[in-house]
Amino acid sequence: MLQQIMTAPGKIEFHEVPVPKTGDDQVLVKIMNIGICGSDIHVYHGKHPFTSYPVTQGHEVSGEIVELGKNVTEFYVGQKVTIEPQVYCGHCYPCRHGKYNLCEELKVMGFQTTGTASEFFAVDASKVTPIPETMSYEEGAMIEPLAVAVHGVKQVGDVTGMNIVVIGAGPIGNLVAQTAKGMGAAKVMVTDVSGLRLEKAKECGIDVCVNTREKDFGEAMLEAFGPDKADVIYDCAGNNITMGQAIKYARKGSIIVLVAVFAGMAEIDLAVANDHELDIKSTMMYRHDDYLDAIALVNDNKVRLRPLISKTFAFKDYLEAYQYIDANRETTMKVIINVQE
Ligand SMILES: [Zn+2]
Ligand SMILES: [Zn+2]
Repeated sequence: MLQQIMTAPGKIEFHEVPVPKTGDDQVLVKIMNIGICGSDIHVYHGKHPFTSYPVTQGHEVSGEIVELGKNVTEFYVGQKVTIEPQVYCGHCYPCRHGKYNLCEELKVMGFQTTGTASEFFAVDASKVTPIPETMSYEEGAMIEPLAVAVHGVKQVGDVTGMNIVVIGAGPIGNLVAQTAKGMGAAKVMVTDVSGLRLEKAKECGIDVCVNTREKDFGEAMLEAFGPDKADVIYDCAGNNITMGQAIKYARKGSIIVLVAVFAGMAEIDLAVANDHELDIKSTMMYRHDDYLDAIALVNDNKVRLRPLISKTFAFKDYLEAYQYIDANRETTMKVIINVQE
């Protein structure tokens, strides 16, 4: 079978390797689609702090089970699935308390361990989640980023009836906004500086979409929610400007969730955060229940994934996919690799 290998930043090779043997507790998955996200792009540019080369990428994935290990009884051959890419120790404090996304020795497929970008992939059955027959493989490959959004939204507990602001309308911001609405938020406002991303958010049913190049963030918030402003602000852009907006304009005593990953050290006004008793939370990847919630949101038509797909590339054109993303930064949402094409 063919396996993708990024040998150095910007360099992708395909190697002919044997189809992996299926362990007793594993399943063999014929890989169908792989999504490319911001972290992959950092690896492509040699700017991912925790990835070394060579590395086989692929952590947003869908496929079909083609073989079962002899101890595996909960799945069947032909089943559509997605894979959770976290590899964890199972022994550390977070692992012992069910928070394996925070494992002290966490490795993620496609970054610190072999990713799924090959025609077949053998994986522990415990990391496999079925997707509905009616779900496309493209959508299946987007359950991973949606699970990021679900885990982020759930950091504040139940959002039913809440007024919510999401800063950043890229793929994760879009999905956070859709998830908050899908989970019962009263009103969701999303902000960005890209007209196209805001159009996508509108297409996905977000109530208020504001371009903060044209309108002041604080004013937009008052206009959308009145003087009580929002109950939660999710920062899905993650820079000094957006976190600054969140801290400055959040209602006193309200919650800010930092969803995006900061690229460097932050310069933000923690004195205001103190004075306003702001509850600043963070969020890291997801766990199995987030995958289940993500699949249910799509299945119940509460989250739309298709509008986010910008372009699909054949497996052998993996490099072109990155070149396309680099050339179309502002207008690209999600790029998907079709592994069997
Ligand atoms: Zn990703
Ligand atoms: Zn652990």
